[in-house]
Formats: sequence, C-alpha cells, structure tokens
Amino acid sequence: MIKGVDHIGIAVHSIDQALPFYMESLKCKWMGEEVVEAQKVKVVFLDAGNIKFELLEPTSESSPVATFLQKRGEGIHHIAIKVEDIQSRIDEIKEKGIEMIDHSPRVGAKGANIAFMHPKSTRGVLFELCEKKEDSHNG
Ligand code: ZN
Repeated sequence: MIKGVDHIGIAVHSIDQALPFYMESLKCKWMGEEVVEAQKVKVVFLDAGNIKFELLEPTSESSPVATFLQKRGEGIHHIAIKVEDIQSRIDEIKEKGIEMIDHSPRVGAKGANIAFMHPKSTRGVLFELCEKKEDSHNG
C-alpha cells in the first residue's frame, strides 16, 4: 500500500524564524506557502531532494499544532505516507484494529486528501495518509 514517504511535517512556532535554517543552512528549495483553514495552520513546503518538509505554524491557539507545541515543543510532528485509493486504505487499517483520527479523508494542503492515524495505535508516531490529485514533481 505504501508508495513512499511524501513529506515530514515539522511543527514550529514561527515559519519566518525557522526558514533561514532550512533555506540557508540546509539549502532546501521553496515550494510554496498556504493557509489550511480547517487545521488552523500556515504551511510551507520545502523541497529537500527525495522528500519534502512541511513546516507547520499554528494560526490560532485552538489549532491542533498549537496544542502539540505546548505539550512537546518544536520538532517532528508527522510523517506523511503516499497512498492511492485512500478510503480503502483507511478501511483496511481500521480492520487491523488501528485507530484512525480521520475515518474519511479530508482536504489538506495542496488539495491532497489526507487522513491521520491515531498515534496511540502506532507507537507514538503520527502518520498521515496522503493521496495526491496527481503525483506531479511539484506536488
Ligand atoms: Zn502533512
């Protein structure tokens, strides 16, 4: 079912403050910025060669990412796995007794269909299933 790791989500207090490290020290390439209202986050995607980094900055104190930052501080927030036919993958995963946060896909950054697994079912890792509209090089 796994088509690869699409991106790693990284929670930061401020994208502006985090960017110089990624752009100037790691030399990532800028791919775009977007506000995902449903999750109350601003995201920036960075091209890191064979993978992308998704910087996540909460736009509201009620954002799940704000809660994450309060509890755990800045750092790796989630790993996004590329899948096709996301609803079937969700159903399969649930059949195996793994708890999903999202029982049906919702729209994430770049219009992708996404669904999160519950980290208590995955030994502490927040995995995001991610189905792209089309798997372009920039997508
Ligand atoms: Zn993500």
